[in-house]
Amino acid sequence: MPAKRIVIVEDEPDMAELVAMQLRREHFDTEVVHDGAAALDRIRTRPPDLVLLDLMLPGLPGLEILRRLRADPRTSTVPVIVLTARSEEGDVVSGLHMGADDYITKPFNLSVLSARVAAVLRRSESTGPDADVLTAGPIRLNRQIHSVEVDGEPVSLTLTEFRLLAAILAGRGRVLTRDQLIDKAMGQNAVVTDRTIDVHVTALRRKLGDARKYVQTVRGLGYKLAGQDDENT
Ligand code: CA
Repeated sequence: MPAKRIVIVEDEPDMAELVAMQLRREHFDTEVVHDGAAALDRIRTRPPDLVLLDLMLPGLPGLEILRRLRADPRTSTVPVIVLTARSEEGDVVSGLHMGADDYITKPFNLSVLSARVAAVLRRSESTGPDADVLTAGPIRLNRQIHSVEVDGEPVSLTLTEFRLLAAILAGRGRVLTRDQLIDKAMGQNAVVTDRTIDVHVTALRRKLGDARKYVQTVRGLGYKLAGQDDENT
């Protein structure tokens, strides 16, 4: 199997080299790009297996690169991990809104970086987001026949709960903000508060019984599918 290719978009040469060295040690092919426009060009010409994207870049900002990647069918599904400074928390939320798969806050530990990269790559290899059947642990959701089972036992959900669970499962561990969940579960024009989503998630968790742990709260951001990776990262 050929080595997975990772494009590192980072304007600080020391940081870029540190990250590249760590990933090469783990047998990834790495390419470093220092500016936004070149990055976009490189990624479009030959979509890699994963992009590490610094948000503070000269020229084209990281969030704009992310937006353009997601809008382009050639790159819309390329996994992206955003790198941000702790002071850019608003950017993290925007990044997740625009479809970043995960984020890492600088300064970070290299083993955390490796774990996140491995987790996102694993996720991108598993069931695609458009599959009819979505699973996590004992949970099995079938979109086509609109059914949910936990350990083979049918669970009866409301339409909103069903759509919420489908969105969380399809996210494969990607953090979904409350606004994104409102869009996916209630429609783009629904006028509801964040609190409404929390109420639906609480009801959903109650019905999932012990499998509730798979629907994880991400403080200050939203919800995600919990996985085996969560203990380690
Ligand atoms: Ca930077």
